[in-house]
Amino acid sequence: AIGRHVAQITAMTPAEQRSLICADDLPGFERYLEGFSNARDNEVREMEFRIRDRARRWWWLNIRSKVFRRGADGRVVEIISSVQDYQKKKENEEKVRENEIMKTLLVKKDDFMSVASHELKTPITTLKASLQLLKRQVEKGEGEDLLVNLIQRAEQQTNKVIRMVNDLMDNTKIRTGKIVLDIRSCNLEIIIQEALEQISTDKEIVVYNTVTQPIEVDKLRVEQIVANFLGNAIKYSPDAAHVVLRAVDEGQFVKISVQDFGVGIPKEKLPHIFDQFYRAELSPRFSGLGLGLFIASELIELHGGSYGVQSEEGVGSTFWFTLPIRQQDRSLTF
Ligand code: ADP
Repeated sequence: AIGRHVAQITAMTPAEQRSLICADDLPGFERYLEGFSNARDNEVREMEFRIRDRARRWWWLNIRSKVFRRGADGRVVEIISSVQDYQKKKENEEKVRENEIMKTLLVKKDDFMSVASHELKTPITTLKASLQLLKRQVEKGEGEDLLVNLIQRAEQQTNKVIRMVNDLMDNTKIRTGKIVLDIRSCNLEIIIQEALEQISTDKEIVVYNTVTQPIEVDKLRVEQIVANFLGNAIKYSPDAAHVVLRAVDEGQFVKISVQDFGVGIPKEKLPHIFDQFYRAELSPRFSGLGLGLFIASELIELHGGSYGVQSEEGVGSTFWFTLPIRQQDRSLTF
């Protein structure tokens, strides 16, 4: 069968032969042929390329050629080639590559599981300690203030766990494409107010909001984004007294930004900051799963908005995002 194919191919014009070669491999193939103009007599030159078979499938071949005949001036006028079927070899290489990728992914998953279990264990341990202390104080008949304080601490730790579990669940929903926005006309003022209620901090949160018109968004999801940006601003600025939230109208979009005066982010880490599981700050001072910004960026994209960050190490960061004011305007902007 190979003989018949070879006969068919040999009968073709060079242009027809070239039209069988995969466009990605053609430049390499031309260079391969040109390379014979200064080849030595016994030099064997080799390359791999794909051709299309009659069923229009790509098929890997390996060609090995050497100089067969030179003209009177010494220039190469003919080469002799042998062509080998490399399809199986390429498929095996592909399988090996896929296995390598799988292995790296499994290692990444293990790493993440160990970060996640550690991050979940910390608040749960504190929660358990608060509950034990609470029980002892109740048995001793302690005053109400102390009990309320312990209950508040327990509640805070519970909220931390809930937030982490929610992030884990959102992460899975993103991977499986299961996040559906519930878009309604909303008041940004109220969204900001409700995001602020999710935050517990002794820092001052300064709010400048000049957006008065309603926006068409998924209210709970936008609250989640704002609370995530605010939570990070607070977490990563342990020594600062305040953070600033701004919301402005920019024509078809609103732009919301959160500025902090904290640790900042090194320049080389900025491009990865919205990646899944990425954590720039690994010091044990800061806890986290590296999912918050990833989830926020996905939610912003689902709304048709954009996002970004300006940051300087040791000075602070400003995280911002935009949202289209009306969802029907999206078709005009894309
Ligand atoms: P995490 O749960 O680790 O906080 P995020 O996805 O929210 O995860 O953020 C990813 C990483 O980005 C963080 O680990 C941190 O290094 C960095 N980061 C996020 N917000 C800020 C900020 N306001 N200032 C400095 N670094 C930040």
